[in-house]
Amino acid sequence: MPVKNRFAELQDEITAWRRDFHENPELLFETHRTAGIVAEKLREFGCDEVTEGIGRTGVVGVIKGKASGSGKVIGLRADMDALPINENTGVPYASKTPNAMHACGHDGHTAMLLGAAKYLAETRNFDGTVVVIFQPAEEGGGGAKVMCDDGMMERWGIQEVYGMHNWPGQPLGSFAIRPGPFFAATDTYEVVVTGRGGHAAKPHETIDPVVISAQIVTALQSIASRNADPVSQIVVSVTSFVTSSQAFNVIPPRVTLRGTVRTLSPENRDLAETRISEICTGIANAMHAEATVSYSRNYPVMVNHDEQTDFAVEVAKSVAGDCAEAPLVMGGEDFAFMLNERPGAYILVGNGDTAMVHSPEYNFDDNAIPAGCSWYAEIVERRMPAA
Ligand SMILES: [Zn+2]
Ligand SMILES: [Zn+2]
Repeated sequence: MPVKNRFAELQDEITAWRRDFHENPELLFETHRTAGIVAEKLREFGCDEVTEGIGRTGVVGVIKGKASGSGKVIGLRADMDALPINENTGVPYASKTPNAMHACGHDGHTAMLLGAAKYLAETRNFDGTVVVIFQPAEEGGGGAKVMCDDGMMERWGIQEVYGMHNWPGQPLGSFAIRPGPFFAATDTYEVVVTGRGGHAAKPHETIDPVVISAQIVTALQSIASRNADPVSQIVVSVTSFVTSSQAFNVIPPRVTLRGTVRTLSPENRDLAETRISEICTGIANAMHAEATVSYSRNYPVMVNHDEQTDFAVEVAKSVAGDCAEAPLVMGGEDFAFMLNERPGAYILVGNGDTAMVHSPEYNFDDNAIPAGCSWYAEIVERRMPAA
């Protein structure tokens, strides 16, 4: 069965919502305008319950099926926030806000889930309850966690959760997914190397933190190449190297290094944290300097559950005829927090041959809307079939 006809009819309307969100991007938890529109539309569609302010600016809508005897409750999630990027697409509905842009397609995700909610509230052709979840702050703020911490799963009795992300480079409107670990845990670290500054022409009277930090940067590469199991996946990147003096002729007293760690298993996550600390303090001590390391664990690994992934594949095939195996992604995704609370699955819908997400040239392709909406709606109708 191809995409649902109703979504072909609704595509222009959903596209107009998407472009309005695109023109008015909001960052992190500041998604006030977007959340307001989402809540207003959910009420207009006739949702049985609409609650704002979950996870600060998140919105939750409840749609009951024709019957509720199954007792099933399924959560469908979309993210609403944009990125601090200056848009360079040249589209007529480009961002009106400097340094804010829907460069990850969350405008498309929000519009597609709203479209699915409109259809589900109209038809209610299922036995159970759907909870539509619109979260803020996916891009670094952990909005999914804040919604969970507000007791969302318990309050609405959510039993399973499903999410979707558009994916550039994947054929438009096609689907791809994988069971198990899918998106990486995303951690950050900061190392401050303190030596003794002085005149650059008298290095023997200093403890030079630049030379020591350079050795640390090199040695950190051995975590991936010599410490981690080569068949596993790990990224340890140093992304910032800042000296405390910018002069040509001064050896600075201090260097600050920053970076990110991406892993797909708890073992590698622990390994990276331990080795970064050992390498930095060990090298600094050997050179009579001091290193202080702070390591923060941010998003956990996003793990798709086997049974719900199989079901998501079946639904994707019914919508698009096929479902590919997605590659592992070393980027992070905070839907991981929801999948840690409830079984579920996260799928990629193709955005065609476009710029990658997080690029100033990226744009969500509105022609993915019928496929994305159909997948959400079919998840509900097939998982909780009406008698
Ligand atoms: Zn993103
Ligand atoms: Zn995203």
